[in-house]
Amino acid sequence: MDQHERTMPTKLVIFDLDDTLIDFATTRQTAYAQMGKLLEQEGIDAQAYLQACPPVDRALFALFEQGKLTRAEYRARRFREPFDTLGVVASDELVIRLNTLFMDVVNDTPLLYDDVLPVLAQLRERDVRTAILTNGPSDGQRRKLKATGLAELVDHVAIGEEQGFSKPLPQAFHSVVGRFGMDSGHALMVGDSPLLDYDAALNAGLQALLLDRGGCHGEGGRASIRSLEAVLPFGNDQ
Ligand SMILES: [Mg+2]
Repeated sequence: MDQHERTMPTKLVIFDLDDTLIDFATTRQTAYAQMGKLLEQEGIDAQAYLQACPPVDRALFALFEQGKLTRAEYRARRFREPFDTLGVVASDELVIRLNTLFMDVVNDTPLLYDDVLPVLAQLRERDVRTAILTNGPSDGQRRKLKATGLAELVDHVAIGEEQGFSKPLPQAFHSVVGRFGMDSGHALMVGDSPLLDYDAALNAGLQALLLDRGGCHGEGGRASIRSLEAVLPFGNDQ
């Protein structure tokens, strides 16, 4: 695995959104808890259903990222298919209610990590440009950006569904860097996904740091940080 090497000064920091700037894991758990109450009212084993949701979602979301599922297809299936694993026949209405409940919680009540606002402010003070590059569905990501005010705090927002190509494709990164008219080597990608954020950014010629807030990725040969504050030294070498 390539080691992170700083061969060019950092002029642009590109952040992933979910589980990098926004604590998506926590709001997802909040949403699941509310969905659980609804399921119990319907006499459905909520715990078994909710345990089935993450793997179903991961598989379908990967297909959405690759353009093999539309946003509507992804959403129609992500809370339908966990019922199939339980052998439960659910009404369309219940599936739609679950999806709406989930989206309202994760998109309209997102939680910013504590280090986000101070780090974005300090990068701005140092004249380091900033951007967000995310693969999530456009409408939901826009709701998160509005609820957090993040769109006004960075220089550019790029959403895979709007660009027509998503991480890990090199074009997703080059499109963002190109907006700033700089060489890819001057851009630093920061995100929580070893493959989509770190490896893909290095492959596209950017610098990269893996954000490992929980310390769960181990060494793995990747340059990792535990907090966004560790990004700041990279904005000091102008
Ligand atoms: Mg992420």
